[in-house]
Formats: sequence, structure tokens, C-alpha cells
Amino acid sequence: MGTFNVLKIQNICSICSIRSEIRIQFSFGDTWQFEYEIGDTIRWGGYDIGKPNLPKVKVYGILETEKCFNCNSPYIIDEFDILVQFDVIMEVQKMANFSDYLVNDGDYVELSP
Ligand SMILES: [Zn+2]
Repeated sequence: MGTFNVLKIQNICSICSIRSEIRIQFSFGDTWQFEYEIGDTIRWGGYDIGKPNLPKVKVYGILETEKCFNCNSPYIIDEFDILVQFDVIMEVQKMANFSDYLVNDGDYVELSP
């Protein structure tokens, strides 16, 4: 993975139950380490990966934050599916199936709307 962006989400540590912000890297849209949150709209017009305005896309995300800042427990789940609809980041969840990403350099996959 070369250039990327970052999705910031709130996470509750499964060990110490402390809430913190964690960072997930992904490569979709103009990639220039832009920081996004759920509900934000992807930017285009630079180092673009993928195509704008696709109805439904699943984007590969990998955890940048390695461990809980409070208790130092390493995070077990480190790969995610980021759901993007018409360039809006809708939700993120634990990756369901890595083999879905055997296209588009592993960065994203178009889903049927
Ligand atoms: Zn913790």
C-alpha cells in the first residue's frame, strides 16, 4: 500500500473498557493522508484510487493504531471493511472475507447496489 487516507473511529477497548480514537488506513479517493470520520464525503481530484460516485463500495481498511493507549493491549482485529455509498463513508466493520479484495490492487471492491 502506498499513499493512503485515515478513517478515525471511536473504539472501546475489550480489555480495559476505555474509549479511545483509533485510526484505520485505506486507499480510496484522492489519497493524501486525509483524515475522515463516519459520515464524511470522500475527496477526489488528486492521487485518485478508484472512481467517484459509485453506488456501493467496500474499501479495505487496516488498523494504524496498534494497541490500546491505556492498557497497552494489542488490538486483535486489524482489518476492516469500510462501506462507502456515493462517496459517503457509511460504516466500518470487521473484515468479513479477505478474498473479496482480489481486485483493484486489493484497495476496494464494487458491490451491487
Ligand atoms: Zn485497553
